Amino acid sequence: MHITDIFQASSPTFSFEFFPPKTPESSDRLYNAIRELEPLKPSFVSVTYGAGGSTRDLTHDLVVRARKELSVTTIPHLTCVCHQQADIQAILERYAEHDICNILALGGDPPLNLVGYDKANDAFQQAADLVRFIKDFKNTHLDKNSGGRGFGIGVAGFPEGHPGTPNRLTEMDYLKQKVDAGADYICTQLFFDNHDFYDFRERCQLAGINIPIVAGIMPIVSAKGMNRMAELSAGSRFPAPLLRSIQRAGEDTDAVKRVGIHWATEQCRDLLDHHVAGIHFYTLNQSNATRQIFQNLGARDSAALRQ
Ligand SMILES: Cc1cc2nc3c(=O)[nH]c(=O)nc-3n(C[C@H](O)[C@H](O)[C@H](O)COP(=O)(O)OP(=O)(O)OC[C@H]3O[C@@H](n4cnc5c(N)ncnc54)[C@H](O)[C@@H]3O)c2cc1C
Repeated sequence: MHITDIFQASSPTFSFEFFPPKTPESSDRLYNAIRELEPLKPSFVSVTYGAGGSTRDLTHDLVVRARKELSVTTIPHLTCVCHQQADIQAILERYAEHDICNILALGGDPPLNLVGYDKANDAFQQAADLVRFIKDFKNTHLDKNSGGRGFGIGVAGFPEGHPGTPNRLTEMDYLKQKVDAGADYICTQLFFDNHDFYDFRERCQLAGINIPIVAGIMPIVSAKGMNRMAELSAGSRFPAPLLRSIQRAGEDTDAVKRVGIHWATEQCRDLLDHHVAGIHFYTLNQSNATRQIFQNLGARDSAALRQ
């Protein structure tokens, strides 16, 4: 289903993000998690794209398998990193033939293990260039599935700002360029203070950005996980009240999890009260935290959360 139709049919949306598993064991864990999350009836699920190397094909495999086995729209992430136009063309054709009709188009994280990587050699320098290319992509099979609209396109947004552009006014101009290039929705980086999201949403409105903005939520489930999040999200702020509670929990791993899930639950409750267009859960291929948040909110599934 085209993402525009999903937002029109059932807003707010509730979606789950997975990453492609690298080993048979992690694959089993992922498919268990997907099975456990399916009853929550997500609006769509998305699958991340590696910074380079062999996991990239795994994204395609997981997207196609999830599309076949689950009755849910599956959105692959795609990045500019290490790609020429012909690669992207081939990837889009493969997705189109497998009835995938939405893409999350990203600049991409720089590959950490690829010695000599030079961004200047990539065909697309910014996500906006990739959005433009995807928008121009034509395929008859895709046309049939998308009612002639081509791929539905999502882009990334950063409520607390992206570290690559310290000038927040310029950054908003760049975001507007992605939207003008043809993006249908924005999915945000994770954040822990909803005020950052509300302010970002308002700044988008002031910049003339009027597409749905989906809030990225990642519950803290361990102290180690929190440190990793701080590393990967490059700049996310951890509010003092949250840190104080995590500190109080100390070595009690269950208590840390309870604190993290409680915080994320309150974020979701508040976002729903403030008419968020959608909530995207970074699941880390686990089902427990997301299911617990739905339960805490008193909801059996996504439809119940919309009431
Ligand atoms: C929801 C979400 C999902 C993600 N999934 C993945 C994934 O699957 N795989 C992965 O590798 N990474 C992923 N990322 C991380 C993301 O790729 C990186 O954070 C990346 O650095 C920024 O991506 P972008 O799409 O915003 O890039 P861009 O829009 O290209 O922006 C990158 C930087 O360049 C700046 N910029 C934009 N346009 C211009 C211009 N014209 N001139 C100069 N500077 C400009 C921006 O302000 C920003 O600082 C994800 C991030 C989010 C929020």
